Amino acid sequence: MANTSEKLQELKAVLAEVTDLNRAALLLEWDQETYMPRGGVESRAEQLSTLLRLAHVRFTSDEVGRLLGELEDELGGRSFDSDEASLVRVTRRDYDQARKLPPDLVAEVARAGPTARPVWERARHDENFGLFAPYLEKNVELNRRIADAIGYQDRPYDALLDRTEPGMTTDQLEAIFAELKMAIVPLVADIARHADTVDDKVLYRAFDPDLQISYALEVVKRLGYDIERGRQDLSTHPFETSIGPGDVRITTRVSRDFFNECFFGLVHEAGHAMYNQGIAHEIDRTPLWDGASPGVHESQSRLWENLVGRGLPFWRHFYPSLTAVFPEPLRGVDAESFYRAVNRAYPSFIRVEADEVTYNMHILLRFELENELLEGTLKVKDLPEAWNARFKSYLGLNVPNDREGALQDIHWSYVSFGIFPGYTIGNLIGAQLMEKMRVDIPDLDAQVEKGQFAPVLGWLRKSVHRHGRKFTPNELMERATGKPLTAAPWISYVQRKYGALYGLEAARR
Ligand code: ZN
Repeated sequence: MANTSEKLQELKAVLAEVTDLNRAALLLEWDQETYMPRGGVESRAEQLSTLLRLAHVRFTSDEVGRLLGELEDELGGRSFDSDEASLVRVTRRDYDQARKLPPDLVAEVARAGPTARPVWERARHDENFGLFAPYLEKNVELNRRIADAIGYQDRPYDALLDRTEPGMTTDQLEAIFAELKMAIVPLVADIARHADTVDDKVLYRAFDPDLQISYALEVVKRLGYDIERGRQDLSTHPFETSIGPGDVRITTRVSRDFFNECFFGLVHEAGHAMYNQGIAHEIDRTPLWDGASPGVHESQSRLWENLVGRGLPFWRHFYPSLTAVFPEPLRGVDAESFYRAVNRAYPSFIRVEADEVTYNMHILLRFELENELLEGTLKVKDLPEAWNARFKSYLGLNVPNDREGALQDIHWSYVSFGIFPGYTIGNLIGAQLMEKMRVDIPDLDAQVEKGQFAPVLGWLRKSVHRHGRKFTPNELMERATGKPLTAAPWISYVQRKYGALYGLEAARR
């Protein structure tokens, strides 16, 4: 009979292989988005499907189930946060979920996305929702079957959330969104009435693309992105990918006539990358080596992008060097005006272009619609109408067509309900962490203004990064801030910041 430590070694050996297969797939995906010739698409799809199938088969084997069962009995005495107990607990969660999905359903889901995507592209281009509707109906049905296979107590969405944001429930999110709606809808209306207060024309002057990239890269290195363990390339959609602790890559895109895209995009992706660069090496090549959830991952990118990178102390520090690189476009603009420009808020149709304040309303809308589709209270054919009515009520705008409405996101062309809430969870977690960080580092703004970012990164390393996936989002927040996820810190942050930026009444009360 093998003893406990031999069994642990045996389990880790399997998990290391699974990790390697998955990471090889990630590297192929990175290549596909950056350098692969167009002609490589078909071979690449086959290679990816082979690697992912091998990883899935290896991971869901009876051997892994047996080792988990035995180790669960034998590790009972280890503390909850020990590497060993966490490894077995988190692997069990992944394993059960992977085993609950019948292979037929997995295969059907894998085929549905690539089939629907080109139709979605055409429908969006032609502003013809009817073209896409049958494919969306199929995806709703597949999401329902996934929820049924995984199982849930009250709401089918709970099962989908369990795969993305473990421990979060539909009811918890509904309560949080209700709180957000109450605070944000009036704030957005108030900002719209004072729209002229903030001018962002400076951002649309000509900025040399090569200089934009080199400047942004210097900045993210200063924030703490370790380029010796990373690299930066161009891609159509910016992303971050982690091949291992020593290889965490980011991509960017750049537009000559809009400053924010490259700069804040790169700070955002570097926020993701610094998270993975900070995970403890001891848990490498296990399911623990990754972000706690997409929402927690997004909290790190948005904390750096918005709470640090769109702050006045940050621009007091960097603006002189920025004007040295771009003397022409920035002529006659001071640090404070630039800070105001990068924070301009206004209701707009497209989620990915939305500012900090209005962003969560875009997510609320999708969260509600996904739930209603899943629970059958909304029919796919009525989706655009429901979308437009809600858009008017939350953001005060009349949606002109489905391209700028219900057809804008790629997500619904794939079978991926339950993803959108992660973006809002990320915003809220970022603010909640920042609130606690400010208590622990009282002179945080002064440090940032001096260009000292090590205190911020150090705090995040200790409270979030090093733990990887050991804890669920709520567990992580309890440990880092003493509370589960809550909306209050984010609400008071935007009310304070935008009240001051726009000179709103509410801010003076
Ligand atoms: Zn992100």
